[in-house]
Amino acid sequence: MTDVRQLRAGDALVVVDVQRDFLPGGSLAVPRGAEVVPVLNRYIGDFVRAGLPVFATRDWHPADHRSFRTRGGPWPPHCVQGSDGARYAPGLALPDSAEIVSKDVEPDQDTYSGFQGGDLDARLSAAGVRRVFVGGLATDYCVLHTVTDALARGYEVVLLRDAVRPVEVVPGDGARAEAEMLRRGARPIEHHMLAPSR
Ligand SMILES: [Zn+2]
Repeated sequence: MTDVRQLRAGDALVVVDVQRDFLPGGSLAVPRGAEVVPVLNRYIGDFVRAGLPVFATRDWHPADHRSFRTRGGPWPPHCVQGSDGARYAPGLALPDSAEIVSKDVEPDQDTYSGFQGGDLDARLSAAGVRRVFVGGLATDYCVLHTVTDALARGYEVVLLRDAVRPVEVVPGDGARAEAEMLRRGARPIEHHMLAPSR
């Protein structure tokens, strides 16, 4: 992989599931989840200034989604299609040009990934994307699965280490997920490492 600090043609930013239900106060809150918003806004600004595309995935579940406890799944109901909790985080500065990728929209579709549960792969390909910069929520579920799916499909992946937070059902899951992503070939970056955009 070439220099991860320098944005170039073929790069895209992928913002994973920064939705109200995943923030403190939401139905499936990620501790400190809101901390990713100002950091992601800085990355968004860089990509927009560089003329590079921004993609935002979202959980977009029907009310009878199989991951919900009401159906015997592991999670409280969250990100139900059209609900307030499914909206993006307050203050998240997605540009009008951002491509929204809804995922796991069918009752029995439960993939944690915009590649398997949505059409992220086709949308990235159509935009000529070869390298994705990935941040969002939560490190140990949807970020992990989106990153590993991207790597499996041949994308270069840069993990925005300062713009992800774990839910940690089991303490240590966040660190384990990060290690797994890096072991599979993702490269880490923090915002201060990026070359200044013009
Ligand atoms: Zn979900």
